Amino acid sequence: MSHVVELLAVGTELLLGNTANIDAQMLSRELSALGLNVYYHSVVGDNPERLRRAVELARSRADVLITTGGLGPTCDDLTKRVVAETFGKVLVYHPECAQAIRDYFAASGRVMTENNLQQAWLPEGCAVLENRWGTAPGCAFQSGENYVVMLPGPPRECLPMFRQEAAPWLGRLSEGVIRSHTLRVFGWGESQVESLLRDRMDQLTNPTLAPYAKEGEMELRITAKAQDEETAKALIAPVEEEVRVVLGPMIYGGQEDSLEKVVLEGLKARGLTLGTAESCTGGLLAKRLTDLPGASSVFRGGVVSYTNEVKHRVLGVSQTLLDEQGAVCDEVARAMAQGARRVLSCDAAVATTGVAGPDSDEWGNPVGLVYVALAAPEGCWVRKLRLAGARERRDRVRTLAANHGFDMIRRWLAGLEIETL
Ligand code: ATP
Ligand code: MG
Repeated sequence: MSHVVELLAVGTELLLGNTANIDAQMLSRELSALGLNVYYHSVVGDNPERLRRAVELARSRADVLITTGGLGPTCDDLTKRVVAETFGKVLVYHPECAQAIRDYFAASGRVMTENNLQQAWLPEGCAVLENRWGTAPGCAFQSGENYVVMLPGPPRECLPMFRQEAAPWLGRLSEGVIRSHTLRVFGWGESQVESLLRDRMDQLTNPTLAPYAKEGEMELRITAKAQDEETAKALIAPVEEEVRVVLGPMIYGGQEDSLEKVVLEGLKARGLTLGTAESCTGGLLAKRLTDLPGASSVFRGGVVSYTNEVKHRVLGVSQTLLDEQGAVCDEVARAMAQGARRVLSCDAAVATTGVAGPDSDEWGNPVGLVYVALAAPEGCWVRKLRLAGARERRDRVRTLAANHGFDMIRRWLAGLEIETL
């Protein structure tokens, strides 16, 4: 029999739009990897009557109910009480849970108030799901044909608890595995990739091959369903190979990668350093690089040269050039990258100059026109971008410009064509 899962998120903050339902997204991914079908996502506020009705509805249409949120010590945390009642169970005091909660407070040096011990009351006969990431324990029980799992709301507790505690408990329901393998593609849009792979996408059933558009890049996901992990991997491998042949260097990495991560790792592996000179991206390249641990070993620093004066005085861009052509042109991008390479003493430097909008600049350059330059020992390259659909979207222009900067570095490191995609 195949199981039907419903994810029920409890919390008024979700309905008010204060918090996105991240738990549902994360758990859906995890559940599909376990071979379980998630048919419903629902959200209900911290109200006992509506929660009871949501649980009853879920019970009527799904045999696996997973709740998130409302397990904590405050009076609006009513998930356990209501779910237990709906399934005809009483709550039982678990002294070992109470001890774990006391220990958690002692270890974190915080004072425990008595209401925290409410969290030690769990439905009779349940399996306790230990919470090593917070205080509220979760629980799981079976009631007739139904399986119920309750997890705490905060995503940093919910996800690890699911993986380490709930997934093994749910393992009894799984009839196989679903495994996905993601390839990240930069430089081509969804339609370009689709036009090359459409036929294969239509033919394939297991594994399936599907494109997903992301901000400024795209993902290709190969998904296989099989008896076990190894069989799934064996189904995925030849399709991955095929896609790699078609897309070649447009693929820059896998699931866990980002353009900046690939750049950082590439620079590290070759012992090279990088600097940035940013105008329209306003420091975004530097920010994204330094978000990554280990950036200090390759990133020398950056100049946010927003005004022409800084471009000239700090980076040494010719004043005549700036006066005659304006800041948004091929030559200025080049001079910025070369200047940054010199003043920051790095092996390579990347520069951006462009019009982020919402209005075109005083030279009449349109929004979305950006030049990205890379200066390296072997030479200097410039990409001229006309970012379509960029009007009114400063952040989009910045993100895409930064992506191109990283892509140019990645291509330089890999010995690929740099200026043209
Ligand atoms: P706690 O022990 O922290 O009180 P809890 O199980 O009682 O955990 P809630 O009180 O419902 O959880 O929510 C705690 C916080 O977790 C909320 O402020 C919210 O930011 C976050 N949260 C709750 N549910 C979700 C969800 N479905 N997706 C993302 N975040 C959530
Ligand atoms: Mg709470």
